[in-house]
Amino acid sequence: MSKQYDAIIIGAGIIGCCIAYELAKKGYKTLNVDKLATAGYGATSNSCAIVRLHYSTPDGVAMAREGYYYWLDWPKYLQVRDPKGLAFYRNTGALVTKTEINKNLKNVMAALDDLGVGYVEVSPEELKDYLPCADTRSFFPCKTMDDPDFGKPTGDSIPGAIWVPESGYISDPQLSTHNVQIATEAKGGEFLFNAAVIEILKDDDGVAGVKLADGTEFQASVVVNVAGPHSFIINRMADVEKEMNIKTRALLQEVCHVPSPEGLDWEREGFILSDGDIGCYSRPEVGNHFLIGSEDPKCDEREWVEDPDNYNQSFSGQWTTQAMREAQRVKGLPIPNQRKGLVDLYDVSDDWIPIYDKSDLPGFYMAVGTSGNQYKNAPVVGVMMAELIEACEKGYNHDNQPYQFKMKYTKRICNVGFYSRKREINPDSSFSVIG
Ligand SMILES: Cc1cc2nc3c(=O)[nH]c(=O)nc-3n(C[C@H](O)[C@H](O)[C@H](O)COP(=O)(O)OP(=O)(O)OC[C@H]3O[C@@H](n4cnc5c(N)ncnc54)[C@H](O)[C@@H]3O)c2cc1C
Repeated sequence: MSKQYDAIIIGAGIIGCCIAYELAKKGYKTLNVDKLATAGYGATSNSCAIVRLHYSTPDGVAMAREGYYYWLDWPKYLQVRDPKGLAFYRNTGALVTKTEINKNLKNVMAALDDLGVGYVEVSPEELKDYLPCADTRSFFPCKTMDDPDFGKPTGDSIPGAIWVPESGYISDPQLSTHNVQIATEAKGGEFLFNAAVIEILKDDDGVAGVKLADGTEFQASVVVNVAGPHSFIINRMADVEKEMNIKTRALLQEVCHVPSPEGLDWEREGFILSDGDIGCYSRPEVGNHFLIGSEDPKCDEREWVEDPDNYNQSFSGQWTTQAMREAQRVKGLPIPNQRKGLVDLYDVSDDWIPIYDKSDLPGFYMAVGTSGNQYKNAPVVGVMMAELIEACEKGYNHDNQPYQFKMKYTKRICNVGFYSRKREINPDSSFSVIG
């Protein structure tokens, strides 16, 4: 069996679907191939789906700002109604603490100012107006639980915080991906599930298609690697990794769900808390829970995963460490013996900044290395990648002269070369999920 497409997208996560949608809108005959059973069942389904604007560079803020508008404008973006319902953006605001590690938010505030994003500075005394049960002492630097000083305050007060009212999260990341699948199908795009790509086909001109585990071959002169934590495997299949200066690998992550302290209605009144002082981020979760993720403090050992199809998905001591760290800030946070939450993988690049690029194999593109923070940007990445692919397929030499992408809502120009596979490691990166 063999069939011809204009573009094959490997992966039907949120970014793979958004790229397919934009290509289909341009008239490309697209096929998304995914080895899982439906759209958004990979890392996307376990995403915390936080939409926040605080990044430490204007480029980072610009991308998130642009993405934010797509989520606000979701029904218009999709143009069709998904019978399963629409995912929605819930605005909560975000409290971001000042710490040494984020340079007391100097760069973040400058980047927010640059983009005209509103925020207020919150003094240590005012912190209790936002979080009445907050312990405002400093615990920095973060420690592991075997450190005798774990949980002991190191200062009387953190230096303060900023409150960014335009921040929140998407109700259901898997549903949002299904929404984009329906929108793509309405434009003629096709999807194939339970289908694993095992080979990238090539001919004299470059990429020629993909081969599946059952022997099926599909032809296309454009193939896009959007395989999430499997991205390095697909790049190796295409034999493009050796010419990449920045590479990707899979990193284990644990997310805890713990009940709110007694008397606190965090599900309704809660917000995003990004707290570098304790090395955690959190947001409200259904069941009046705190959902707690790690901001990857230096002291924590990173668990790189060689085989993203076969890794330990049980909770480890990291779960307890994260919950205990959050309890340093949130007084009375209960830590149940029965651990709830999830274990999944980030697709991390060497500098924790994504690779949105072509490759040295003509027709082979990649949107990878999303490093735990690109769900929010998926609709923008879809538009940007579709433009990049169209330009390169018409002969544009993006490696020599990086493509300049104009964002629809913010009207800002994004230098796509910022995301090049050939870039030097970006020293301004936080080398963490914060970006
Ligand atoms: C725990 C966690 C929390 C996160 N929280 C946030 C957050 O709060 N905010 C935010 O902005 N971002 C967050 N992220 C990051 C965000 O979820 C990802 O950047 C985003 O979901 C990536 O989407 P994707 O489409 O690139 O990849 P994925 O969703 O991983 O999809 C890749 C797909 O490729 C398929 N695939 C792989 N190999 C093959 C193959 N050989 N053949 C066929 N199919 C294949 C997989 O089955 C999978 O469905 C988080 C990520 C995790 C893991």
